[in-house]
Amino acid sequence: MKYVSTRGAAAGQPHSFLDILLGGLAPDGGLFMPLDYPRITADELRHFRTLDYAALACEILAKFADDIDRDTLAALTRRTYTAEVYRHTRRAGPASDITPLSTLGSEGGTTLSLLELSNGPTLAFKDMAMQLLGNLFEHALARDHATLNIVGATSGDTGSAAEYAMRGKRGVRVFMLSPHNKMSAFQRAQMYSLDDPNIFNLAVQGVFDDCQDIVKAISNDAAFKARHRVGTVNSINWARVVAQVVYYFKGYLAAFDDAAWQAHAEAPLEAMPKVSFTVPSGNFGNVCAGHIARMMGLPIARLVVATNENDVLDEFFRTGAYRVRSAAETRQTTSPSMDISKASNFERFVFDLFERDSARVAGAFEAVASQGGFDLGGTPEFDAIKHYGFVSGRSNHADRIATIRDVDARYRTTIDTHTADGVCVARRYLEPGVPMIVLETAQPVKFGETIREALGHEPDRPADFVGIEALPQHVTVVPAEAERVKAFVAEHSAD
Ligand SMILES: *Cc1c(COP(=O)(O)O)cnc(C)c1O
Repeated sequence: MKYVSTRGAAAGQPHSFLDILLGGLAPDGGLFMPLDYPRITADELRHFRTLDYAALACEILAKFADDIDRDTLAALTRRTYTAEVYRHTRRAGPASDITPLSTLGSEGGTTLSLLELSNGPTLAFKDMAMQLLGNLFEHALARDHATLNIVGATSGDTGSAAEYAMRGKRGVRVFMLSPHNKMSAFQRAQMYSLDDPNIFNLAVQGVFDDCQDIVKAISNDAAFKARHRVGTVNSINWARVVAQVVYYFKGYLAAFDDAAWQAHAEAPLEAMPKVSFTVPSGNFGNVCAGHIARMMGLPIARLVVATNENDVLDEFFRTGAYRVRSAAETRQTTSPSMDISKASNFERFVFDLFERDSARVAGAFEAVASQGGFDLGGTPEFDAIKHYGFVSGRSNHADRIATIRDVDARYRTTIDTHTADGVCVARRYLEPGVPMIVLETAQPVKFGETIREALGHEPDRPADFVGIEALPQHVTVVPAEAERVKAFVAEHSAD
């Protein structure tokens, strides 16, 4: 499998999976995409149903990472997707399911379910991909006798997922910038209580944007980056996207009972029953993986993009206008991991929508850089969106509160604020006979304050998170100056 840039400049020398594993953007500023999508057969899909999560992940990954041998991939996925790592399951099935599908109930002539993606160490879905990335990085670095210093910025979920994935990994150090005193006590405790010697928490005296600006300044300093082998783990990382493809398959495979599979034992792919997914979305990484699963042949009816008040994506799918927001227009909401001003993986879908015409993609994203967006309203491309199954919706704080209350009252299930955005929007797109699966992207304990507002009490805390706020914290407070952060990285980097 070879990879090219969405903007075309890398077309001359396509890269392999391991070539692009440690990198971020393609050299021309585009994102890496596979040259074409591997297609599954109906028999393969039926075979997948006999596999556990780690084996399924190995099958899917092997299609995209054919430069890693099978046995190595099998060992890496086996080590990643264990019941021990994904032990925080609260409802359906055994932890060995990794991503259990739990049915809420019947609505609109179909079943509404949650795919539990947040049973990992940081209680958010980013663990699903990041844990694999940790093991892939360790493998690739050992192979090349190399080291890597990951520098990142976080306002919560991404940073802690990265730290829990990279802790103790040979050859890797993590320097994670977070805004000083701006995260919740729970989030701070989650990150700062790690005492692994390869993890460095830097609390920047500023806001999240300052942290991001510093990371950008370091990225733009090519000499510094090369000297200290600086890398990132942000959401555009291709391996993260591929890792997320796996659970769309897993959700599909769990959506039908034995009788339904029996009835389709000989059916071709086109005749297999379909499901729809609703995805609480920010940077478009998660739902992009759903798009890829669909392009591989997984029978998906709709991909419902759910946003909060930061509705860049909802606006695009409704009107065709992609318009990035200014910092002033970007709202702080009670589903904070979806508070984005632009959707950094969106270009991957535009590449397919433009039928892989990389010159047009480059033009569109030059317009984003120079004019803040582009508008496909009234063009053939806008009509083509529906052939990809995408629809969208947005919700707001009042919707989240009402949805959390309703799901608690009706189904005795506490959902988090991001999942509430998903359930709220999913209900607008229920179709009789098409199971609707909402991706549960975080556990409610991470957003206790809003749960209290909705339900009058704090959510239950998993046993091993009780009292984490009292643990000793390991963090260095730094001024919001790139030079000071660079000096810290230089002093503590892996050599
Ligand atoms: C990151 C995150 C999202 C958004 O996912 P994207 O891949 O950025 O679209 C949604 N919910 C939670 C809890 C998250 O951490």
